Amino acid sequence: MSKNIKSIRGMHDILPEESEKWQYLESVLQMLMQQYCYQEIRMPVVESTALFTRSIGEVTDIVEKEMYTFEDRNGDSLTLRPEGTASCVRAGIQSGLLHNQLQRLWYMGPMFRHERPQKGRYRQFHQIGVETFGMANPEIDAELILMTASLWKRLGLTDVRLELNSLGSNVARQQYKEILITYLESYKDQLDEDSLRRLHSNPLRILDSKNPEMKKIISEAPKLSDHLDAESAAHFSKLKQILDKAGVKYSVNPNLVRGLDYYCKTVFEWITDKLGAQGTICAGGRYDGLVEQLGGKETAACGFAVGMERLLSLLDDSGLIPQLQQTDMYIVMLGEAAEIEGMVLADSIRQQNPNLKILSNCAGGSLKSQLKKADKSAAHMAIILGDEEVENKQVMIKYLRQEKQQESVALNDLNTFLKNI
Ligand code: ATP
Ligand code: MG
Repeated sequence: MSKNIKSIRGMHDILPEESEKWQYLESVLQMLMQQYCYQEIRMPVVESTALFTRSIGEVTDIVEKEMYTFEDRNGDSLTLRPEGTASCVRAGIQSGLLHNQLQRLWYMGPMFRHERPQKGRYRQFHQIGVETFGMANPEIDAELILMTASLWKRLGLTDVRLELNSLGSNVARQQYKEILITYLESYKDQLDEDSLRRLHSNPLRILDSKNPEMKKIISEAPKLSDHLDAESAAHFSKLKQILDKAGVKYSVNPNLVRGLDYYCKTVFEWITDKLGAQGTICAGGRYDGLVEQLGGKETAACGFAVGMERLLSLLDDSGLIPQLQQTDMYIVMLGEAAEIEGMVLADSIRQQNPNLKILSNCAGGSLKSQLKKADKSAAHMAIILGDEEVENKQVMIKYLRQEKQQESVALNDLNTFLKNI
């Protein structure tokens, strides 16, 4: 006996009941993007492995242990994208979209990370990502944050908070790294395994450690905010002024460093306490050095990504996903002639009324069983066609959710009738 093949651990089907919720969220997102004048870009799911090792950084969770990397048939090393920023920058450089231009781009799609699957953490998950290029001023950092704030508002979410930090310029951060390493070295015997490994290669990431035993050392560490360069400090201050003026609340978290190497200046996360440990639903920041690092010209850049599964589960738990009317009308067809006429009729109603959702019976059965299906479909009304109706060129309208007598309508009058209901 052959065993049924199952989906891969941590990679899930989105079944019809769920996909409806996704479509709702996607439609809100698309409207938001259009309103802010962002353009969609679609990148491949597979890229050269070097793209991610060079951009995300060798000593990061993603590159160290989470990437799906495999050898192509010609021996090239390929990787299923773990995030979208690197791909977007690659695509932008390759197609000349970035040099001396202002770009506001977005994308949506699956990302792949080999993590331990749990609620809010999957091996295939989805992000909507937004990336902007060519704008060095804090106004664009503010635009991105205001855009996410207005997204939560539109979705009806109130329980998300914004954490903000500035990582400073690449030079200032380098100097701070030395200071931090000196501090951490004096506690070397108390550092956990991850932190020891990162001590010299990625000490900032230690500040982000979730290990409670590291808490005290981290809280007493020298603060990046005390070592900011003047330009980054001014940038951060203007960003905060815009947010204050717009009434967007935030808290500055000096230990917010983000897990990827390419960030500088602004970093931010939107966090909810309702999803347990996987509470970050959106994360982003500025990455002015990345375009150059990947072979392009020096280009200011800033972006964010929203974890769609986490956002959807938050919306769902909070009862914020509206129910979609699946079906408006159900076409009941009784007998051979009615089945032929009914199929054609259903399609002509659809043509005339593009907004109506019409479900044809297509499976035979008695009047009773067809009406049962009509009722289950949540349709408001059934349009009933039997041999007699076909003969008389009319249909019977039965109201399924109203106390209203059924009535017959001539086929010729049907369109006018439907437009007036
Ligand atoms: P975390 O600290 O939760 O691992 P991260 O810093 O690795 O997050 P980013 O690379 O910043 O995450 O990705 C942006 C967003 O994508 C996250 O805030 C989260 O909402 C979502 N995300 C990241 N990894 C996963 C995953 N494995 N499954 C589901 N969503 C994820
Ligand atoms: Mg992660």
